[in-house]
Amino acid sequence: MSAERVLGLSCRLCGKRYPKEALNFCTDDFGPLEVIYDYEEVARTFNREAVSARGQSMWRYLELLPLDGEPTVGRHVGRTPLVRADRLAKVLGVSELYIKNDAVNYPTLSFKDRVVGAALSKAVEFGFQTVGCASTGNLANSVAANAAAAGLEAYVLIPDGLEQGKVLGAMIHGAKVIAIEGNYDQVNRLCSQIAFRFGWGFVNVNLRPYYAEGSKTVGFEIAEDLGWRAPDHVVSPMAGGSLIGKIHKAFKELELLGMLDGPVTTRMHGAQATGCNPISATVKNGVSKVRPVKNPRTIAKSLAIGDPADGFFASKLIRETGGWSDDVDDESIVDAMKLLAETEGIWTETAGGVTLAVTQRLIEQGRIDRDESIVVCITGNGLKTQEPLLERLARPVVIKPSLEEFEALVEKFTPALAAV
Ligand SMILES: *Cc1c(COP(=O)(O)O)cnc(C)c1O
Ligand SMILES: [Zn+2]
Repeated sequence: MSAERVLGLSCRLCGKRYPKEALNFCTDDFGPLEVIYDYEEVARTFNREAVSARGQSMWRYLELLPLDGEPTVGRHVGRTPLVRADRLAKVLGVSELYIKNDAVNYPTLSFKDRVVGAALSKAVEFGFQTVGCASTGNLANSVAANAAAAGLEAYVLIPDGLEQGKVLGAMIHGAKVIAIEGNYDQVNRLCSQIAFRFGWGFVNVNLRPYYAEGSKTVGFEIAEDLGWRAPDHVVSPMAGGSLIGKIHKAFKELELLGMLDGPVTTRMHGAQATGCNPISATVKNGVSKVRPVKNPRTIAKSLAIGDPADGFFASKLIRETGGWSDDVDDESIVDAMKLLAETEGIWTETAGGVTLAVTQRLIEQGRIDRDESIVVCITGNGLKTQEPLLERLARPVVIKPSLEEFEALVEKFTPALAAV
């Protein structure tokens, strides 16, 4: 009866159109493909009132997600808190600061549950029974868990040497976990060959256009929770460079549909680790071509993609929106993880440390105005990346079960309390 809402795919370089299929690049120029929608069709059922009345998951934005039917995988994903972070704001010297906290996303504690919900629901529509991914860690967890819950066979490929929490978080779900002796880019290339050879659905390879759309829900939620407006600044971590672009696309789609107060003037800022900074180097050097990083070396392993698929578009977007990008070393990453935990009670993984440390830097540089609204995207959970903290955090003090020993401790920690 109703017309089609999801029209198909289109090449981001030449605009060539493709039908809805498991394909991620243009056969003419290898440009990335993107899902296109009929926005008039979307607008028939999608508006502020309708969305507000729906369930608390990312699927409340269903009309702007790439499915033809209802979601079948990851039905509880999304609707994570947007936390007003006043204590942290005070330390940073800014007036309106928010943490978008995807460290508590369901079910695997990172923003990757959003992209996997979208990609695997699409995989089911396409009829795939075996799915997979090339992962820096969080994607492995999410594909493994969501595939298990959906009864799909999962092949998860990761670079050897990932954090234990991320490896276990994939194994526990019964996925076939394969560690490759090489870096992420080599894993990714192998996955392209496997997807082609076996005809499987790899969420971030042949299903990538559908996968990437899931990231828009971070932007929809931010705008809705700000009372249907886009913030002045967003700071997003960048691995493949997809998330940052999709947050902005989300704001622009809501604007197009007349759902926002005021125009979108958000400056998009991108965060990377110095040990793997292909996109931030592109922005800082003022060049347009992304130079791959051959041997990523950083504790922010989830962001360690040397040859980012969407690096070109991410750096272009950062420039066009008046944003900026920077990168930070391992010490600054850990310091920022501690700062977020001590001020706001949020334990993020190393990627979150990257994002907050870069935010601090951009505020100090005057690239983020202190009196404007700022959203920092925290994308993963600290429980998964404990290794760098083990070496850097103090051990608990051990005492006998004795009040005297405890009193002596309080004397040392907080003398003012001991005097009572
Ligand atoms: C994958 C990932 C990102 C970045 O995703 P891209 O869309 O590839 O840039 C950010 N944070 C965490 C924790 C991730 O796992
Ligand atoms: Zn093309």
